[in-house]
Amino acid sequence: MTELLSNYLGGTSVIGSGAGTPLFDPVLGNELVRVDATGLDLATGFDFARSQGGQALRATTYRERAAMLGAIVKVLQANRDAYYDIAIQNSGTVKNDSAVDIDGGIYTLGYYAKLGESLGDQTYLIDDEAATLGRDKEKGVAFVSQHILTPTHGVALLINAFNFPSWGLWEKAAPALLSGVPVIVKPGTSTAWLTQRMVRDVVEAGVLPAGTLSVICGSSAGLMDQLKPFDVVSFTGSADTAKVIRSHPAVTERSVRVNIEADSVNSAWLLPDANANSDSFKSLVREVVNEMRVKSGQKCTAIRRVFVPEALYSLASEAISAKLATIAVGNPRNESVKMGSLVSRAQLHAVQQGLAHLKTQAETLFDGSTLSLVDVDPAVASVMAPTLLGARDPNSDLVHSTEVFGPVATLIPYKDLAHAKALIARGEGSLVASIYSGDSNMASQAALDIAFAHGRVHVITPDVAQIHTGHGNVMPQTLHGGPGRAGGGEELGGKRGLAFYHRRSGLQVTQSIANTMKVST
Ligand code: NAP
Repeated sequence: MTELLSNYLGGTSVIGSGAGTPLFDPVLGNELVRVDATGLDLATGFDFARSQGGQALRATTYRERAAMLGAIVKVLQANRDAYYDIAIQNSGTVKNDSAVDIDGGIYTLGYYAKLGESLGDQTYLIDDEAATLGRDKEKGVAFVSQHILTPTHGVALLINAFNFPSWGLWEKAAPALLSGVPVIVKPGTSTAWLTQRMVRDVVEAGVLPAGTLSVICGSSAGLMDQLKPFDVVSFTGSADTAKVIRSHPAVTERSVRVNIEADSVNSAWLLPDANANSDSFKSLVREVVNEMRVKSGQKCTAIRRVFVPEALYSLASEAISAKLATIAVGNPRNESVKMGSLVSRAQLHAVQQGLAHLKTQAETLFDGSTLSLVDVDPAVASVMAPTLLGARDPNSDLVHSTEVFGPVATLIPYKDLAHAKALIARGEGSLVASIYSGDSNMASQAALDIAFAHGRVHVITPDVAQIHTGHGNVMPQTLHGGPGRAGGGEELGGKRGLAFYHRRSGLQVTQSIANTMKVST
């Protein structure tokens, strides 16, 4: 029997009373550890987080909480090697892809530590200028409306997807903790080990007050039932599970605030000024290949649809395919390998099914199944090489609605700008779109035109080709989330990311009180 990982709840480690769910190495197929949440006293654990953890955090200032985030960074940095080891075993990722998750999480914590420092020794935030409601000229006083943000007096339940066990935790926990709100994280089960280990390290290092950071691994049963009116739930995962969360009585009856980051059919758009020799064309090709390779396409932000002018369809197909053919795919332990595994056989199966579904309306431009895999047993491993599809038929609708969560993208030709915009909008709301053009005016207009359907629009003009942060990389400075199908959520975006964990209240007070409040912030 492999080790049964402990949960951390109620300020202590607790082992589930069941046999546990095994987690596997997706490349070698062996069982690694087990997780289990059977029999946990959730009600007491959630209350402990609310009362002990929440009170302790709210007794501190933004600056003091920023120092706590800084201390978490140190703990994580000290244990980085162990995290890379867990990632290669449990997620099957090559080192660079593990870095996106592990170092991406640490970077996000560090960013919020700095931001918190700049918020100073305060315990609340001022929201915008005061507005005058009434004036007594004789007395020289004004009655004003001043909005403030105070931390919510509840817990933040973070329900995460399997693809980012580290970054997915910290991109939510950093803004929550900085806001003064205790966190209970429920990681995606198949890769829960890394989340559990990070929480364990931080809790055992004693850098946070008891009850501020908890982890529950295994079944989600009963978690939503614990939520009370001042709690919040931040969910990342599929649209199907999002529906279950949204329709839970905690949300529908107790008005628990909910943020949903769901799936998305993201676009890359080469504008009509490009030709096959242009920098924009080259940037698009590079970015598409990168997004298919990194984490084997298991990123919510990965490019799924690639829009090119009709005249460039064949050339783009050839250029992307030529680069895909050079990627060594296989066992991440082999140094020549640049693209590792999907997280499980279940995911491999789901991606293969999704690919077959898309193929009913699309042609295959590059067939990954013809590549030989490095150092893996295909009967056991969840490894899959990238496949590029093409959808020339304007009636193909599946490509706009189907997210295949793996190394699959579809090239789509368009006639003119209006046609491209209409096709992009058929994704019904995405996390991100990237635009490639050498014409700044055309690029800025295109960005404005599709912004309504995207949480982020990433514009690559030749001047920033070497310094941009990547279509799929979520930076804490920029909003993450998207309208419609993408879930309608908002995370990160610097200080904006704190709003979800605060309550906004309008204070109607005399101007002098409003001034005192402002002075102290
Ligand atoms: P999922 O199956 O929806 O699971 C997400 C999380 O919800 C997991 O922790 C899961 O636990 C939990 N869960 C399942 N049923 C639940 C219920 N009834 N109540 C409460 N929690 C429940 O998604 P996934 O397969 O892990 O992740 C892949 C999907 O996530 C993709 O569609 C991807 O696009 C999306 N994603 C979106 C973003 C974003 O930021 N927008 C980021 C990453 C991924 P178990 O693991 O135990 O089932």
